[in-house]
Amino acid sequence: MSLKDHLLAQIALNGPLSVAEYMAECLMHPEFGYYATRDPLGAQGDFVTAPEVSQMFGELIGLSLAQIWMDQGKPERFVLAELGPGRGTLMADILRATRTVPGFHAAAHIVLLEASPTLRGIQAQTLGGFDPKWVDSVSDLPNAPLFLVANEFFDALPIRQFLRDGDGWRERLIGTKDEALAFGLGPHGPQVALLDRLEDTKDGDLVELCAAAIPILTVIAGRIATHGGAALIVDYGDWHSLGDTFQAVRAHDQVDPLATPGQADLTAHVDFEPLALAARAAGCAHTRLTPQGVFLERLGITARAQALAAQLGGSELESLIAAHRRLTHPEEMGNLFKTLGLYPSYSAPPPGLEP
Ligand code: SAH
Repeated sequence: MSLKDHLLAQIALNGPLSVAEYMAECLMHPEFGYYATRDPLGAQGDFVTAPEVSQMFGELIGLSLAQIWMDQGKPERFVLAELGPGRGTLMADILRATRTVPGFHAAAHIVLLEASPTLRGIQAQTLGGFDPKWVDSVSDLPNAPLFLVANEFFDALPIRQFLRDGDGWRERLIGTKDEALAFGLGPHGPQVALLDRLEDTKDGDLVELCAAAIPILTVIAGRIATHGGAALIVDYGDWHSLGDTFQAVRAHDQVDPLATPGQADLTAHVDFEPLALAARAAGCAHTRLTPQGVFLERLGITARAQALAAQLGGSELESLIAAHRRLTHPEEMGNLFKTLGLYPSYSAPPPGLEP
């Protein structure tokens, strides 16, 4: 049986799936799920993330976290956490960049939130020397100052899609047509969660909701507000997003999200506005949403690239220059990707970000 057969049978039995239910099955089904069964990252895989593009990304984030830790009086014990650490590359770069910061490693208790057993195995190899602990939920994060990073995690959380129809909405659903998966629309109805979106949308507009992100943000923000620390959330998306951003990527190409369930990465752009509102509601301050290119430039990526370039030549130098451009240039990742920082309202915002 394939995941497609499983989904067709499920739809025949229970009716169409929401996009969120479809995403959750495709990404995390224990037997056939995309993340549950493979390492999707890197040139040989399906997509490349910022930490996999260059060590500079994680190094700058690591130094930024160490700066915040020092600014907050160097708490003796803190949680250094990552959501969806992939291969563990970002955390490894954070730890390498901070190894000369006196006391930082000794105070850090590394905690990783990862749903995929395959990727947990790879993270264990990358980070084994640092004795990381894995958790299934952010509520399992220890009660302590929390320094957290999440790169390309929130885009993988399931979203629901709603199409505006007069004064109500119709949910975009996944059913079947001629033995294949096909998009359709649910019945017309009001949506309490979208009442405020009646003001800024018109007939035919599509709005996405990521319900799963809110409890995660609430816990993280609550820990930071109560115990101190900071969070850096980096992802593609925008503030108050509008339109269909549900997409599938396989072998570095966009593909039909319904064509090969479980074989392609499924994501949606992150709407940072509800994340920021959830943080605020939990008593935590947040920064302005800042393009990744601007954020990395402010942290000194160009100086870091120049220092690395001084030791390189030939193709290594060329790939360093390409990596710098890829991470920062507005036509590459620089503008599509954004950073949101969370921090205690009594302290300064993270370096490179503004209140
Ligand atoms: N942060 C890494 C990997 C990004 S890919 C990088 O930048 O390279 C998304 C990561 O989030 C993977 O590790 C995936 O297994 C994990 N993930 C996705 N959905 C998750 C969920 N609901 N709970 C826990 N981990 C999840």
